Amino acid sequence: MVIRTPTKICSDPSGAARGRTEFLARNSWLGILGSDFLGSLGREREALAAVIDRELPTSEAADLLDLVRDLVQRELAPRADKAEASGIFPREVFAQLGELGLLSLPYPERYGGGGQPAVVYLQVLEELARGWATVALGISVHVLACSGVAEFGTAEQQDRFLSEMLDGSTLGAYCLSEAHAGSDAGAMRTLAVRDGDEYVISGDKAWITHGPVADFYLLAARTGDDRSHGISTFLLPHGRPGLTAGTPERKMGFRGSVTSQVHLDRVRIGADRRIGYEGQGFRIALSALDAGRLGISACAVGLAQAALDAAAAYAAVRIAFRRSIDEFQGVSFLLADAATQIAAARQLYLYAARRKDAGKPFSTEAAMAKLIATDMAMKVTTDMVQVLGAAGYVEDHPVERYMREAKVLQIVEGTNQIQRMVIARSLKQAPRRLA
Ligand SMILES: Cc1cc2nc3c(=O)[nH]c(=O)nc-3n(C[C@H](O)[C@H](O)[C@H](O)COP(=O)(O)OP(=O)(O)OC[C@H]3O[C@@H](n4cnc5c(N)ncnc54)[C@H](O)[C@@H]3O)c2cc1C
Repeated sequence: MVIRTPTKICSDPSGAARGRTEFLARNSWLGILGSDFLGSLGREREALAAVIDRELPTSEAADLLDLVRDLVQRELAPRADKAEASGIFPREVFAQLGELGLLSLPYPERYGGGGQPAVVYLQVLEELARGWATVALGISVHVLACSGVAEFGTAEQQDRFLSEMLDGSTLGAYCLSEAHAGSDAGAMRTLAVRDGDEYVISGDKAWITHGPVADFYLLAARTGDDRSHGISTFLLPHGRPGLTAGTPERKMGFRGSVTSQVHLDRVRIGADRRIGYEGQGFRIALSALDAGRLGISACAVGLAQAALDAAAAYAAVRIAFRRSIDEFQGVSFLLADAATQIAAARQLYLYAARRKDAGKPFSTEAAMAKLIATDMAMKVTTDMVQVLGAAGYVEDHPVERYMREAKVLQIVEGTNQIQRMVIARSLKQAPRRLA
């Protein structure tokens, strides 16, 4: 089995059940939280039990999805509201998911990864986002932060760094953006100056997910004057003198996910921590973003599915004019449109993922998936608030949170305007490839 700890997630069906039991028994914090799950929650949460009929390549992938669904229903979803209201980063949840091997699913087993294709990893992410989007987004960012070494590192760097990055005990951050360089990442000013066998790095990165809590940082910095060809990539460990994180941003949503500036004041690192050759950093960043956009797409689909689950369950029991509101066409069509748009977005990210798994170009398709899925999530979560009426506007139900969370997915890892630029650029390339 690809999962690092087979006693926790087993490949055979009977073993899967045993693995689940052992996992829950070993993790008493999960057992306690999950014990009264269905009894204590409203019907909209019970609706999470609805199972998406997924096409998965192997029976072990199906077992993995079963386990994740179970984990989400019992342990993650019940904690999400309270944790998001508190705004405290749930480090212990990532530690537990890391123990299960869920932080490193798409990476090779020889480095401690799960060896799963993108179509499996992304559907796991979708199920996690359905229960707690902060957790799914955090995993997506961590996977992104590992990609530089996994895809562009030398064999020596992979042997040296990857097992620790993928063993589930550490969390990564991806540092590209700066205050004046978001969409225009090539305008970055953070400078890495070569000094013998070392680089000295100074500058300020902005909007960094996991900024204050990361164990390592995949960081892009300027090593030359040429805008995009003068950028290089570095792997920085936490705790390096001169590396500090700013105060966490106060965000509209994803409050459990911590975002901050990362300051670098003459941080010294060995040249053996430069990933790729000098000047290759922009390419490494774009490559990482292609895969990362698929992660954001999966998070968006999971979030929208959660909103639909909640709204459909509510509409079935909310009475107006002596009937349940889902009997009104005006409401049922909102639900039907949401279900259709979610299914379409899911198929588009899976199409892009299948291209990735097949080793085909998938950059354009990833941009299309991110554009469709995140715009869809914004529309669906807004419409599902409408289905709940006033109840949708207050914190008693999670749909208002889903709506706040959906917004940022249209902004991160390239705004949706930038996705359109990527797609439009591909139309000019010959031969033109149609999706
Ligand atoms: C919660 C959160 C987490 C984040 N996490 C990370 C992280 O972990 N690592 C990281 O590096 N960054 C991260 N970011 C930063 C994110 O990637 C940037 O916010 C994003 O790339 C947009 O940059 P910007 O905010 O500077 O917007 P700007 O680039 O200033 O854009 C402002 C507006 O102008 C539009 N625009 C800009 N250029 C064009 C153009 N050429 N054509 C059309 N429209 C254009 C944009 O679409 C947008 O609507 C995060 C941001 C947030 C909010």
